Amino acid sequence: MTRVVIIGAGISGLATAYAVEQLAAQAELEVQTLVLEKLDRTGGKIWSRRENGFLCEWGPNGFLDNKPMTLELCDSLGISDQLLRSDDNARKRFIYSEQVLHQLPENGPAFLKSKLISWPGKLRLACEPLIPKRTDQSDETLAEFGRRRLGNEALNKLIAPMVSGIFAGDPETMSLKSCFKRIYELEQEYGGLIKAMVRLAKQKKADIKAGKAVASAAGPGGILTSFQEGIQQLTEGVGKGLQGEIKLTSAVSKIEQKSGGYILTLESGEQLDAEIVVSAVPAYAAATMLAENSEKTSAMLKQIPYATMNVICFGYQRERITHNLDGFGYLIPKAEGRSTLGTLWDSSIFPNRAPEGHVLLRSMMGGATNMGAIDLSEEEVKKRTMDDLWQIMRIAAKPDFVRIFRHPHAIPQYTRGHAARVEAIEDSLRGQPDLLLTGNAFFGVGLNDCVNNSNLTAQKVIERLKIHQSKC
Ligand SMILES: Cc1cc2nc3c(=O)[nH]c(=O)nc-3n(C[C@H](O)[C@H](O)[C@H](O)COP(=O)(O)OP(=O)(O)OC[C@H]3O[C@@H](n4cnc5c(N)ncnc54)[C@H](O)[C@@H]3O)c2cc1C
Repeated sequence: MTRVVIIGAGISGLATAYAVEQLAAQAELEVQTLVLEKLDRTGGKIWSRRENGFLCEWGPNGFLDNKPMTLELCDSLGISDQLLRSDDNARKRFIYSEQVLHQLPENGPAFLKSKLISWPGKLRLACEPLIPKRTDQSDETLAEFGRRRLGNEALNKLIAPMVSGIFAGDPETMSLKSCFKRIYELEQEYGGLIKAMVRLAKQKKADIKAGKAVASAAGPGGILTSFQEGIQQLTEGVGKGLQGEIKLTSAVSKIEQKSGGYILTLESGEQLDAEIVVSAVPAYAAATMLAENSEKTSAMLKQIPYATMNVICFGYQRERITHNLDGFGYLIPKAEGRSTLGTLWDSSIFPNRAPEGHVLLRSMMGGATNMGAIDLSEEEVKKRTMDDLWQIMRIAAKPDFVRIFRHPHAIPQYTRGHAARVEAIEDSLRGQPDLLLTGNAFFGVGLNDCVNNSNLTAQKVIERLKIHQSKC
């Protein structure tokens, strides 16, 4: 029996362990998995807590259904019947600009009508097909790409808020290729984004005519999907689906190579043997564990920065809020000078997030452009959030319920040079094929990306298992 130890019980570690067990069973390989987790709970960034009837998500509140990975995982676990799709109204997303909440236009005519982008800004956007494709292969930042192809206004009012919504990131430092690979590819393949949209729409029409299956009707955004009792049901489901053990409060401090495998030293001093090790912890944590094993790998892992984030949950009696809360919520461009990055109308997105007659709002504060927010006192975070809610939605009422979550290491930042850094990290471990790295620090931060990357890592583990077991 080959022992595979997975370090970290976030979605990446759990999904890797599950995929290893499933693939090993299919290939008739003998495997024993063990997941080691530092905290006294599984889930990592995923943690759904119901307090006073409000269901507060510590981190993510769902995944998008436009990629198959997480949906397939749910199918395999037999928990698809518990999935909860977001309300249809939650397709409406807003941007706060020049003291008005503007609905994000979903099509050409709505875009022309929208007052979010000025006429000169719209004209600049309309020139996008005339901008030649970039031939320089160096890693471009999202801000450089936005300015070059779409103009300053679109960068500030559309791209930058989207980057803060997904990565809590700063477009001036983030890599286009690593954050939005598809957008990079569209420019390379079609010469521009509008050209790509026109060609792809034509292709889709032709495919429908020819009776071919086409991508989800929900379009590129997909539908935000969770569970009745929050996204934690996903990681709980994976945990329950595992044959192997999950050891909680078992932080790994060191990974040492020995003949035929590895010795893992826990913070408690306990030592464990493993033939194959998968690290699914954040990059800075992996750097610490690998400090002695590979100084070079450790140093490069440390170069992946993380943004901080405060998540502020406010519960109100519905009648005390005049705003209709009809939609998903809003993002705020940096130029508006507000303290928060945006607010999700959580109880409008999923129906049961607040008790009867109440609503739940969830604001985000911090990110790469406001790293100091993590150090603000509870009172200050609350005051600044309430000030924003007043300015933006005219909410003057004091919340009946407040919960503030802090993420000192919220989301890894794929800054310029990220892809080359990840390649160099992988290269530095070529001589240790039984030591693998996975998790959201490398190839995508969305839950779908984490599950996808876990599946790919599990396939590598299976290849190694075959080699190990052929030697026996
Ligand atoms: C506020 C917020 C909102 C988000 N919203 C969304 C969203 O709506 N949709 C979406 O798709 N994504 C969202 N994300 C991103 C997504 O949640 C994460 O990318 C994903 O959950 C990361 O999973 P992971 O398993 O790779 O890492 P983590 O969840 O960070 O798990 C790593 C695990 O390793 C453990 N660990 C650390 N050190 C050690 C050690 N030494 N020994 C043992 N264990 C250790 C940690 O305790 C943790 O459990 C959000 C993230 C944040 C912070």
